[in-house]
Order: sequence, then structure tokens, then C-alpha cells
Amino acid sequence: MNQSTLPNLLILDDEEEIAGILGDLAKQCGFEVTITYKADDFFERLSEQTQYIILDLMIPGVDGVDVLRMLSGKKLAVSVILISGADRRVLQSAEALAIQYGLRISGVLEKPIRIQEYQRVLTGLISDKKNETASGSFSTKRVAKEADSAISPEEIEIAIRDEQFLLFYQPKINFKTGKVSSFESLVRWSHPDRGLIFPDSFIPTLESYPSLMDAMTEKLILQALRQCSIWNREFPGIAVAVNISPVSLNKLILPETISKMIESFGLKNNQLIVEVTETQLLENITSTLDILTRIRIRGIGLSVDDFGIGYSSLKQIHRYPFTELKIDRSFVSVAPYDKEALFICQAAIDLGHKLGMTVVAEGIETLEVGELMKKEGCDKGQGYFYSKPLPADAAIQFLSNFKL
Ligand code: C2E
Ligand code: CA
Ligand code: CA
Repeated sequence: MNQSTLPNLLILDDEEEIAGILGDLAKQCGFEVTITYKADDFFERLSEQTQYIILDLMIPGVDGVDVLRMLSGKKLAVSVILISGADRRVLQSAEALAIQYGLRISGVLEKPIRIQEYQRVLTGLISDKKNETASGSFSTKRVAKEADSAISPEEIEIAIRDEQFLLFYQPKINFKTGKVSSFESLVRWSHPDRGLIFPDSFIPTLESYPSLMDAMTEKLILQALRQCSIWNREFPGIAVAVNISPVSLNKLILPETISKMIESFGLKNNQLIVEVTETQLLENITSTLDILTRIRIRGIGLSVDDFGIGYSSLKQIHRYPFTELKIDRSFVSVAPYDKEALFICQAAIDLGHKLGMTVVAEGIETLEVGELMKKEGCDKGQGYFYSKPLPADAAIQFLSNFKL
């Protein structure tokens, strides 16, 4: 058994020379490396200790997709980096497939591999791991995943009642002024036994209980507005964004309720932005359109989230009165080295502007991506490069100190 505390990386690539170089570079970055050249050998060496895998999709005798499928059957907590000499689109399809199989994909690299890009992926893995360990989120996320199915409506009711749902705030940076224009509020569940749980682990469950989702959303809007009114004393005009699940866009009274809340905190309607994910919007289309239109008429901002990954994006931005378009981070983060992703960002920026919307790039993790998005004409940027989501008191510190 391997007692090493270094992160454990297993490589499968039939090209021995390349495998060797990949292995050496990974060792330099601080990984404990095992190299295999054949699928059989790979599965033999795969163990509970394996944390990271580099997988060449083109290995003679087996199909890389078979390896992915078999890997998903093992139910190990591994992150996979895919590499291949095949066309970029094949690699993208394989990535999508791997995600469908429930595998965590940390990088996709085209052969010939550019060393710099490879090192960037590796150091990303190390720093993600450090951040996760430092904040304790790595373990809580895993616990939360296991606990997912066990989340009961009663537990959620208690959480709402006892104010266990807390908001963290991530700044959106205005590229023209170089200042923070607003904060997006992101929910975390501060669970008394399980620690901090991230939204991807409980929002899907809540979506099956619309009345609980509505109750949580209402409390969170209040929490976000209260915080915004505090910032507003020192930073007049600062706005806050809330995420509203499409399942909550069913009560026709919602726009009035939200307006009253805004008024009660002495804020202006344009200091609230409602972010809606486009993918499920088309359900229950009449009331959604009715509600979103009335939210908009009141001057509240309306943002289409994760733009580009929905199946009917164009139809939705044509139909709904959005004021802001957020380009999904899957296009933004790879734009410097993925031409197709860059074209999609450019098209989204152009389209957003032609329709009179503010365009936000989300998922900016590096200076390079931030500069590129700015150069391409994006209005705002959001991402770990500027700041991770912050607790309320750290957000006000950030507001005071930040300048692009
Ligand atoms: P989202 O609305 O697209 O929020 C952005 C997510 O991306 C957040 O994850 C944020 O922490 C993460 N993120 C921000 N910058 C970066 C970056 O540079 N790199 C990477 N890799 N990630 C980045 P989070 O907080 O885990 O939220 C996940 C999703 O859960 C949100 O996606 C949103 O759909 C949902 N959600 C969060 N808060 C709420 C809420 O209050 N209500 C509802 N209905 N949904 C929420
Ligand atoms: Ca959002
Ligand atoms: Ca988003």
C-alpha cells in the first residue's frame, strides 16, 4: 500500500516517450506518479489511493471510451485529464460523455501537448486541492454527495427555519470602471452535523419540493437585500444578484413580493439582479414569461445565467426580457487556447450587445482569460481570479480595497 502523502497520479498512454515526459513533469509539480502503457495494466494499478488519472483516448486494442465507462463503474473519487491526438471535437465529445458517466474531468489536452498548458492543468489540480483542504470544503463536499439521497424535506424545513442557509458573495467586476459593480449571492448550507454543504449537493433535491424552494428563495432574497443595504451606506448604488430556480417562477405574485422587499430596505429596483438559468426556463412557459416580464417592468435586472449550454438559448433570449447575459464558464475558461470556445464567446458578446444586454464572462480564473474577455468587449467579469465567493464581512473588505 502506498503511504505517500503526495497526490497520487496514474498515467495511461501507449506512447512510452510521451508518458515518460508527462510523468517527469508531474513529479516536478509534486505528484507521486505511476505510468502504464496498456489498459489491463492500468486497471491493475488503479486503487483507492489513485486521486488523478491521465488518460490517452487512443490506445491500441481498447477504445478510450470503454476505459471511461469501466472507470465510472469503479466509483472512485478520481479526477481525470483526457489527452488525445484526435480532432478537438472528438476530445470534447469524450469529455461530455465522461461527465455524463459521472467522472470528474479536470482537463482536456490535445496532442501534441503544450508543456505550459499541461503544467497549468497540473498546478491547478494542486492548488484546487490546497484550497479545498484549507477551507474544509473537499471533505464536506464528499460527505454531502453521500448524504444527498438522505436529505429529507423535514431537514430542509428545519434548515430554513433555523437560518442554516447562508449567502456568500462573489464580485462582478466592471471592465470599464475597474470597480466592483455588484455581488452575486451564492447559497451554502451550514449544516450542524455535516458542515458547509455546496448548492450543487442540495439545490436539485430542493427543486423536487417547490414550496420549500420558494420558502428558501424568499429568505435568501431578504438576506441578500439586507446585505446590499449595508454595503449601500458606504458604496451607494452597489447591486446584488440572486439566483432564482425556474421552479420558483410560478407564483404570479413574485414580482410584487420582490418589489416590496427592495422598498423595505430603502434600495432601488435596479440594485437587484435576478439570475435565472436558461436550461429549464421553457417549462411552464406562460407564467414564466408573465413573471419575468413584470420583474423587468419594475426595473429589476434580469440575467440569463450559464448562457450557451442550454439547448434553446437563442429562443429564450429572444422571448424573455433579459438585461444581462452571463457566458458560461465552460467557454470562458478555455477561450485562450480553444478557438471554438473563443468564437462562441465572441458571438455571445456580439449577440448580447445587439440585444442591448450587459455581457458578463463568468469563470475567469487567470489574468490571461480576464484580459482576453476585456479585449473581446465583454462588459464585466467574474471568477476566482478576482475573488472566490466571500462571506459578507470579507466582501465589504474587498469592496474597499479592490481596483482592477
Ligand atoms: P452559478 O449561478 O453559475 O454560480 C457560479 C458558480 O461558479 C458558483 O458555484 C461559483 O462559486 C463558481 N465559480 C465562480 N467563479 C469560478 C471560477 O473562476 N472557476 C470555477 N471553477 N468556478 C467558479 P456554487 O456557489 O457552488 O454554485 C453552484 C450553482 O448553484 C450556481 O451556479 C447556481 O446555479 C446554484 N445556486 C447557488 N446559489 C443559489 C441560490 O441561492 N439559489 C438557487 N436557486 N441556486 C443557487
Ligand atoms: Ca448565477
Ligand atoms: Ca453561471
